Amino acid sequence: SLDRPVLELEDVVIGYGRIRALHGISLQVAEGELVTLLGANGAGKSTTMRGISGLAKLTSGQIRFDGERIDGLSTHQRVHRGIIQVPEGRHIFPGMTVLENLDMGCYGRKFSSKAERAEVLDHVFELFPRLKERVKQYGGTMSGGEQQMLAIGRALMARPRLLLLDEPSMGLAPMVIRQIFSIIADINAAGTTILLVEQNAQQALTRSDRGYILETGSITLEGPGRELLVDPKVREAYLGVA
Ligand code: ATP
Repeated sequence: SLDRPVLELEDVVIGYGRIRALHGISLQVAEGELVTLLGANGAGKSTTMRGISGLAKLTSGQIRFDGERIDGLSTHQRVHRGIIQVPEGRHIFPGMTVLENLDMGCYGRKFSSKAERAEVLDHVFELFPRLKERVKQYGGTMSGGEQQMLAIGRALMARPRLLLLDEPSMGLAPMVIRQIFSIIADINAAGTTILLVEQNAQQALTRSDRGYILETGSITLEGPGRELLVDPKVREAYLGVA
């Protein structure tokens, strides 16, 4: 087990009615790490994210954050501790401007000063110059890649201790996917701990410290990102290389 795990899942079981989506998974994310949870459609990636953020109830098992159990806490309480999720499909506010969308990210989390908000906003604009150029544009008129940037930028406005990214590459062109992953690596390098859920093995594992492979609700393999990338089973199942 890791030195200073920020996030720990232990034997987590989650079901929907009689259907079991997770069969008892254990994983850890250490302070400052970028960790990928890789899996095919229906493997249980989103369910894992929902369990961590509090949108799905655990049937059994534990989730700890900074060493304390959080699986009994509400979503709101988890957000307050700094667990911020960028959901699959982005869910930006189409009728709000880019700046309004970003400000929604810190809604209910009062900054101690205007200077502090400006500082966080500057950091977001540094990572995403495209957003700065388009502060007045409506979210709904942005391209898919720009909306993903906006969704991530909005999450950063909450100053996450742990950023949960659910399939940020979904539906985007290869060049845009490379851009998004490069920015994710920058966010991590600037000190944010990230758990990333993905189907795009190549990009995600290349950028990750460690990875876990999730198959039909169980973790079947784990290791350093670059080791998983050359693992024959991973290559066959997720990279289409025999
Ligand atoms: P995808 O990449 O397609 O989103 P995923 O790896 O995120 O897949 P989940 O969405 O976590 O997978 O789904 C895991 C399993 O749980 C699937 O068999 C799915 O059909 C089932 N499931 C998910 N949500 C529900 C729900 N609300 N009710 C019933 N079953 C569900």
